[in-house]
Amino acid sequence: MSQIIVPLKCTSQNYEWGKFGTNSTVAQLLKGYAKECSNIIDDNKTYAELWMGSHPSAPSKVVCNNSQNQQEEINLNDYIEREQKLNHSSCIRGEIVEKRFGKDFPFLFKVLSIRTALSIQAHPDSQLAQVLFKKFPNIYKDPYHKPEIAVATTPFEALCGFRPLNEIQNFIETIPELNRSLPNLNKLDDCKEYLKSIVTILLKADSELIKNNLHHLKERLSKLDNPSDLDRLVLKLYSQYPGDVGVFFAYILNYLILKPGQAMFLAAGEPHAYISGDCIECMAPSDNVVRAGLTPKLKDVDTLAEMLTYSTGKPGLVDPITNPSISSENYLSYVPPVDEFQVDYYHLTSKCPKLKANLSKGPSIALVLSGKVSFENQSKPQSNLSDLHTGSVLFIPSNTELQFSQNDSNIPVSIFIATVNNKIFNKNNL
Ligand SMILES: [Zn+2]
Repeated sequence: MSQIIVPLKCTSQNYEWGKFGTNSTVAQLLKGYAKECSNIIDDNKTYAELWMGSHPSAPSKVVCNNSQNQQEEINLNDYIEREQKLNHSSCIRGEIVEKRFGKDFPFLFKVLSIRTALSIQAHPDSQLAQVLFKKFPNIYKDPYHKPEIAVATTPFEALCGFRPLNEIQNFIETIPELNRSLPNLNKLDDCKEYLKSIVTILLKADSELIKNNLHHLKERLSKLDNPSDLDRLVLKLYSQYPGDVGVFFAYILNYLILKPGQAMFLAAGEPHAYISGDCIECMAPSDNVVRAGLTPKLKDVDTLAEMLTYSTGKPGLVDPITNPSISSENYLSYVPPVDEFQVDYYHLTSKCPKLKANLSKGPSIALVLSGKVSFENQSKPQSNLSDLHTGSVLFIPSNTELQFSQNDSNIPVSIFIATVNNKIFNKNNL
């Protein structure tokens, strides 16, 4: 049984901010998968996230035959444990991966379909995560960091990192409603200290004052004949979260619209908010989120103000399209500066109907985003999978040699693979 590629059955999360019915990429993927599990898409329901991995909140299930040759579903991590026990080795997860990350699956892979903005948030680094977990275990439920990468699959709007200081200063001086929401703000020479005081004063300001100022801002902007993209963004955020202080962060954080294929990496302490669009997301398997706005949930202002890096300027875009060293027409690799994961993209067309996968030595999860494709397992040819299609999700054990081939030359194939970051294997080879 071991070393074979197995299909995964994955769970969707129907959060309120998700896109409705088949407008959602998540729903389209579930529908593609429907042949196997009879998912029916409800157009009145939101489909926000698809989770691929072994996170205890929604573990993916391996569909396999048991000893009586009956089909059964078991959690991905239990499957890995069972297979490794049978083989008396760490053949599935890989020895180096177990040494580095223990028995927990090292990453969580997701698809997001966003209709209304998610909260403005930041994630702690490993050190702070341990402190928060110890101090407030009811709020911060694990001691891990949560670096994230988001790869746009449709035009994707986000706020990410602080704008250059001169832009922020200019808005404070020219947007009267923002100015009035920052009582007692003193200009400080130290950029980081100054940003910290802006964030703290804004987040601690009287909520009635903020509500009032936002209302005036909305009234003023909605009367403009030629609203700018930023004016439109502020109006949109206001309509989704009227009175929420997070609306003002449109003037403080960089506003990005990623094209499909572009990606952003969210390091610890970088404030960000996803606003709309669809993306593939990969992260360390943690739930540690510190929120600042655009949310009815708890805003932990003191923790947030202390943990932000307050770096300004262009955020960390990972853009293999303009970085030829890691891309070709048919292969893009998104490699963030963390050990847990990287995301690779493969594109098969009639010109390039076959491709060898460039997998790291660790375990991987593959998602067929579109097209019809076969996975040829060159380590175990008897376990080839010949009928994969939009929505198929596969678990690939460590050290698998894999080749893809397009099944229908008229339909291009797009595959995303999340895998353990290759650099941990290079490090161990030194
Ligand atoms: Zn985040």
